[in-house]
Amino acid sequence: MTTSAELFEQACRHIPGGVNSPVRAFKGMHRPPVFMEHAKGAYLYDVEGKRYVDYVGSWGPMITGHADPEVLAAVRESLDKGLSFGTPTAVETTMADLICEIMPNIEMVRMVNSGTEATMSAIRLARGYTGRDKIVKFEGCYHGHSDSLLVKAGSGALTHGEPSSPGVPASLADHTITLSFNDIDAVEQCFEEVGSQIACIIVEPVAGNMNCIPPQPGFLQTLRKVCDSYGSILIFDEVMTGFRVALGGAQTYFGVDPDLTCLGKIVGGGMPVGAFGGRREIMSELSPLGPVYQAGTLSGNPLAMAAGVTLLNKVRQPGFHDALAQRVDTLCNGLEARAQAAGIDMITQRAGGMFGVFFTAQSRVDNFAQAIACDDEAFRRFFTAMLDRGVYLAPSAYEAGFMSSAHTPEDIQVTLDAAEHAFAQMTS
Ligand code: PMP
Repeated sequence: MTTSAELFEQACRHIPGGVNSPVRAFKGMHRPPVFMEHAKGAYLYDVEGKRYVDYVGSWGPMITGHADPEVLAAVRESLDKGLSFGTPTAVETTMADLICEIMPNIEMVRMVNSGTEATMSAIRLARGYTGRDKIVKFEGCYHGHSDSLLVKAGSGALTHGEPSSPGVPASLADHTITLSFNDIDAVEQCFEEVGSQIACIIVEPVAGNMNCIPPQPGFLQTLRKVCDSYGSILIFDEVMTGFRVALGGAQTYFGVDPDLTCLGKIVGGGMPVGAFGGRREIMSELSPLGPVYQAGTLSGNPLAMAAGVTLLNKVRQPGFHDALAQRVDTLCNGLEARAQAAGIDMITQRAGGMFGVFFTAQSRVDNFAQAIACDDEAFRRFFTAMLDRGVYLAPSAYEAGFMSSAHTPEDIQVTLDAAEHAFAQMTS
């Protein structure tokens, strides 16, 4: 039997860091990543035959569990007809109709192949529509790895964003303003100073890439208000939250209407899919209707559409999200009770089917500065102890956890028992 450690060593020969996406490498966790062999329902099975209760769910898409039989059957049926035609297909219209029916603020939608493409294209559209260059984002929110979005706040935050990766031109980063999540005053001040130059605000309405940070009351409403006042476009990046915190995403959950919405993960049922959509007037600027260019050889791929349409039809069932949120509550309340009993400073935050665990003595975490002030080493020890006991959490203190409808009360109990042991180990 080849072990994960051996496979990782082999992978590192020709793949940078042994992985095709950095967070998979378990960096900072002091151990090689686990190589998975297959997955079913709430479980991952590694190459050494060990089973894990999984709270990563392929980083979000697997909301009904892994290898959902209905999704697989739809893909199999599509498979026999061919992989891709490069022509319109009826299933793309089915997908577009479904998205527009489910998402309250999408009147037209374009399919792409990843969340990165969705946000990158939505920003181009916002810039094209408004004729402005500046964009506003929030520290700790992740919107994929396109150049305009790999930017952090510079010394003069309002005028100079700085690339957060080599390779991003400083001249491009200059157009990106980065503010602190949940800081209403900073948003208002920023718009007072340069609002007329701002094409759009892009925000994760529940931040899921700095652990799990819901918006404070009034934050999303303020974004809507300043965009209305200054003619800027409000983009909700619901790649993670769409179909997860509620069927209609965070915009339904919080009752705030974005102009454009980015989707990914669940919308593709586990296939490489993203989408962006919104008001008809704005979407009509897209090529071939309008002048803003955007395209994709494999966009709207029939297998991917078959998987996504099938999954969306499953999560539309009445009561699906209430049940998911209840499972999250059971898990998070159980974790908090066990941490408290063990004398460990830990809190949870949640929204619908996503949650986060913070090792902190604070009663809440509202922004990036507070998220990175949490105890990384405590998280690492917790993660390792949970992994050893067969619970797979994201290998980073800055990722949200994802519940699926395949997680049974027994799976959650197994998780809580593992946590009790982990906490005991951490205090010994
Ligand atoms: N937006 C958000 C909110 C995300 O969480 C992610 C990825 N986790 C992306 C965009 C980028 O999506 P992808 O990895 O599919 O490019």
